[in-house]
Amino acid sequence: MSKLAKLRAEILAAGVDAMLITRPENRRYMSGFTGSAGTLVVSQAKAYLLTDFRYIEQATSQAPEFEIVRIGEPGKDVLRDLVQADEIKTLGFEQDYVSYAEYEQLKQRLAIQLVPLSGIVEKLRLIKDETEIACMQRATKIAEAAFEQVLPEIKPGRSELEIALDLEFAMRRMGAEGMAFPIIAASGPRSSLPHGRASERVLEVGDFLTLDFGAIYNGYCSDMTRTVVLGKPSEKQREIYNIVLEAQLSAQAAVRSGMQGKELDQVARDIIAAAGYGDFFGHSLGHGVGLQVHEGPRAGKTSEDVLQPGMVVTIEPGIYLPEFGGVRIEDMVLVTATGHRNFNSIAKDLIIID
Ligand code: ZN
Ligand code: ZN
Repeated sequence: MSKLAKLRAEILAAGVDAMLITRPENRRYMSGFTGSAGTLVVSQAKAYLLTDFRYIEQATSQAPEFEIVRIGEPGKDVLRDLVQADEIKTLGFEQDYVSYAEYEQLKQRLAIQLVPLSGIVEKLRLIKDETEIACMQRATKIAEAAFEQVLPEIKPGRSELEIALDLEFAMRRMGAEGMAFPIIAASGPRSSLPHGRASERVLEVGDFLTLDFGAIYNGYCSDMTRTVVLGKPSEKQREIYNIVLEAQLSAQAAVRSGMQGKELDQVARDIIAAAGYGDFFGHSLGHGVGLQVHEGPRAGKTSEDVLQPGMVVTIEPGIYLPEFGGVRIEDMVLVTATGHRNFNSIAKDLIIID
């Protein structure tokens, strides 16, 4: 079934005549149009992409399944005209992506029933097709190759910001359109901050350095984390690293269709808890990735999301000891009919930088 056919089934189930799509990722997902302005209106019979003169040409070539309608001409309300022409009486809208002011304005302009909806296109986005998977595979390759290139540049005396810049530069040179999110580079005691953005802190011998990063390729994100140690690791550093690695490998190996997010989380959490560090793994095991770096499904303590073939999920356990430092290891995995497939291919053994 095509994306549009699936959306139409959801629109029917929501009991509305048509749906207005304004969230940028959803607009792109449904239509293929990558421009930064535009609205979709989809009914059982029609599919429109409303955009302004800057994007008419681009939209026409990128969104062949949609009728491209130009907006922004003075004195014309294109949306109202097509709602009337197609006899749309109830219009669903993405309640999380329409401001109150926009809602009030729509209500006045259209004078029809507006129905707040949420998660409709997001639900379709959970299952990736081959093209999406190929884009994420490429985004992962870019991130991994950049990491390997930057490894020799990680040394005492350089700052987290410098390492993050090297990594970003390498990813962009290899074809990344952008960063999936601002690079996390947390070293020494700062590595106990799960989301420590790169700072001016200078690396020292004895530090853990956690790098969490991802590339965007053709709109799709990758997300991975590696923790390295500068100089000979202490007993405690080795201990913590090996527990996180065991949790990561075990959870990754356990990924299969039909499993709930919380069951997957439990696999890693049990290992970390059994080793006595349960209180120091304070976040969820993983999340989906796609056009956004954080999307469904969730793999956390309470998640009842059921893994299905075509879903992508990260496996990223960590242990964070205040004032001591932390370790996180993260890979991205595709759920398949028979188990899973790894996106990442570089090793996860502790990297020691002499
Ligand atoms: Zn990450
Ligand atoms: Zn992640």
